[in-house]
Amino acid sequence: MAMIGFIGLGNMGRPMVRNLLKAGHSVRAHDVVAASREAAAQDGATVVGEGSAVLEGADAVITMLPAGEHVRSVYLGANGLLAKCKAKPIFIDCSTIDVGTARDVARAAADAGLEMVDAPVSGGVGGAAAGTLTIMVGGTDQSFARARPYLEPLSRLAVHAGGSGNGQAAKACNNMILGITMIGVCEAFVLGEKLGLDHAKLFEVTANSSGQCWSISNYCPVPGPVPTSPANNDYKAGFTAAMMLKDLKLAQQAAMSAGASTPLGAEAQSIYSLFNAAGNADMDFSGIINFLRGR
Ligand code: NAD
Repeated sequence: MAMIGFIGLGNMGRPMVRNLLKAGHSVRAHDVVAASREAAAQDGATVVGEGSAVLEGADAVITMLPAGEHVRSVYLGANGLLAKCKAKPIFIDCSTIDVGTARDVARAAADAGLEMVDAPVSGGVGGAAAGTLTIMVGGTDQSFARARPYLEPLSRLAVHAGGSGNGQAAKACNNMILGITMIGVCEAFVLGEKLGLDHAKLFEVTANSSGQCWSISNYCPVPGPVPTSPANNDYKAGFTAAMMLKDLKLAQQAAMSAGASTPLGAEAQSIYSLFNAAGNADMDFSGIINFLRGR
């Protein structure tokens, strides 16, 4: 069994550490927040007060941080992982960040003779707890092969999406689809209401017709048809509107830098930006249906 360093013990990181421990690995974990370190210690991790202290004896180091700026500072800072690294663990960044930062940090790691993959995840806190995340990995064939055993206790599928940054690229594309389809599904249900259509009937038709998509079949934004969807729980997140906006911004940033035309992605970002600004940042992203009803 391996020694795994882990930095970032938040909503996603803590259950991921639990699954690594459950698989029999040892984990040296760090977070800037003392309460998060204490919680991980209760779960059975060895906690350390400095980020670079997770390197001691590590076969792999996993990071699960809020955004690109945190990843830059944890890896590239004067006391960061690359500056302090003496051995050659595989570095796995599971945070959702911009493609440019992911490629910059991986290049810095390669310049230091170290291997790194970007490995953002899909599946939310529930998937993290159940160990059923989908993980999109960017890096060399060799780095993917090294990272894979450490991703197994966390996921049901790890896809090697190509070179460095391609994991983040795949995540940006996926979540742009999700944002666009959720708005489309909500618009259709609001239109159906105005036309006198029953929610259950519209669900039955669309879930079995060409309009079918994950936002209908797994996460229907009205109460009833999908009992596990946040619509049945007053739109308690789930996946917050703030996170959806973050991911749509990353997709637009990627589209701008690559020169891709993504007009619906841009529109979805604008609509979620208004929804967030109206005080709904903590609500589940499917709650946008009420916004489209004018509430
Ligand atoms: P979170 O804010 O709950 O956790 C992030 C943790 O990182 C916090 O505990 C914070 O204290 C810690 N941290 C920040 N800077 C640090 C530093 N310099 N050193 C050590 N620790 C530091 O966020 P989360 O919900 O766990 O999400 C983590 C990442 O996963 C994000 O990039 C997010 O976009 C992505 N993600 C989240 C979800 C979700 O449903 N929550 C789903 C898929 C992907």
